[in-house]
Amino acid sequence: MAESAGPLLPALKSIVGEANILTADEDVAPFCIDWRERYRGRARAVVRPGSTAEVASVVRCCAAHSVPIVPQAGNTSLCGGATPHAAGDEVVISLSRLNRVRAIDKDNATMTVEAGMPLAAVQDAAAQAGLLFPLSLAAEGSCQIGGNLSTNAGGTAVLRYGNARDLVLGLEVVLADGRMWENLKGLRKDNTGYDLKQLFLGSEGTLGIITAALLKLFPKPRTSTTAWAAVANVAVAVGLLGAMRAALGDRLTGFELVSADCVALACAQFPAMTDPLPGHPWYVLIQADDAAANSPVTAEVENALADAIAGGQVRDATIAQSESQASALWSLREHIPDAQRREGPNMKHDISVPVSRIPVFLDRAREALDAAFPGLRYVVFGHLGDGNLHYNLSPPLGVEAAAFIAETARANRIVYDLVAEHGGSFSAEHGIGQMKRADLAHYKPAIDIELMRRIKQALDPHSLLNPGKVLP
Ligand SMILES: Cc1cc2nc3c(=O)[nH]c(=O)nc-3n(C[C@H](O)[C@H](O)[C@H](O)COP(=O)(O)OP(=O)(O)OC[C@H]3O[C@@H](n4cnc5c(N)ncnc54)[C@H](O)[C@@H]3O)c2cc1C
Repeated sequence: MAESAGPLLPALKSIVGEANILTADEDVAPFCIDWRERYRGRARAVVRPGSTAEVASVVRCCAAHSVPIVPQAGNTSLCGGATPHAAGDEVVISLSRLNRVRAIDKDNATMTVEAGMPLAAVQDAAAQAGLLFPLSLAAEGSCQIGGNLSTNAGGTAVLRYGNARDLVLGLEVVLADGRMWENLKGLRKDNTGYDLKQLFLGSEGTLGIITAALLKLFPKPRTSTTAWAAVANVAVAVGLLGAMRAALGDRLTGFELVSADCVALACAQFPAMTDPLPGHPWYVLIQADDAAANSPVTAEVENALADAIAGGQVRDATIAQSESQASALWSLREHIPDAQRREGPNMKHDISVPVSRIPVFLDRAREALDAAFPGLRYVVFGHLGDGNLHYNLSPPLGVEAAAFIAETARANRIVYDLVAEHGGSFSAEHGIGQMKRADLAHYKPAIDIELMRRIKQALDPHSLLNPGKVLP
């Protein structure tokens, strides 16, 4: 193989061209730090292949030199998944130049895209074809579809459309030995043995490098309604979710929970934001959509909320009267993670429990954490509709950030033990990366870890793909 001859860097250069390999410290540095600035690593180089064939050649070259690889997309991982380790022996493969739409098949309601397309660009391309790609998350301007699929991202429309893995019909993947596995068929039915694509979806770059994907598309909503409702507590919010589902069926796209503290934080960090309904402890953001142009969905949301106000479940509510009002409500919700990052170091818990158990989980967690960390500040928001909350903690006022962060393991144990007790998951949508490997070892059954190890061994026997990530 020509690409494996001679020293590594010249060989990589000959594959991708001089302009697409970065080796100077200042060029490499942005690829070696994660979004939260919690992980800093080093890398021999950042390589930016421009095609699947180049990705395959780069992987073969690294394998021939026994050099480990870190696949990187938009670098918005909240678990340090895309950040190289401090040893500096890895090569980062950035997928950003693989950014084309390969095909849109409107009759099959599918599109084939390359892995480095930003999620927002995938959404736009679908919209231009008159269809919808429904994956949506606050990082959508920066994250890339390959990263979304490798983390099995969730986001704000899981209630209706499922997680990223539910939106994929086929993948193209470069394997650890540099061979390509291709399954871009666009079939909704294919029971010919194991569904191999599922191995790569959510594997965080540890089993293969996704280079392209065949995605499902859906009818574009032509009537949409966004509402913001104030409730007294989370149990009432769960009850309202049931009422909204009963009223709207699968036209209920999103149902987000936001605490008053989150609203205050977002407004404090981003002064252009305003509190839509001040003076209540909890809020829900409701999104309902219908493909029909003259759908009664708006009236149905209004009626359901009016009933809930009359019944005392909802304290107050507002329905967006324009697209700009709707996007202001969503913007408030989506700025919460960034507001918390701006405020300073914090502890994040991306947890899920069955929706019915969320209120009791929250009560128990607060009781235990208040006892352990008096004055703790809670930043609780997330995708109530699918049982996934971002149960984030900020230091008590006056407590040094470093001293607070040093308590992470103790706080995690309290939160994750309660999550386990309530039948939940300690990582709902962000993955494991390097941050949650010890938690995986602690909370995942031994047989699950054994099977995961065997799969890793089968697909990446020399552990060259994102080593030190996911598996404990
Ligand atoms: C403000 C903010 C809001 C967020 N909201 C959500 C949310 O609502 N829901 C949610 O699920 N996540 C959310 N996230 C987390 C993050 O955006 C997702 O995990 C996203 O899917 C990561 O995509 P990325 O392109 O940034 O991937 P990266 O961070 O670059 O990589 C993520 C992982 O995938 C691997 N990888 C990347 N590309 C490939 C590839 N082509 N082939 C194989 N492996 C690859 C990397 O090695 C790494 O392990 C949020 C993050 C931020 C900063």
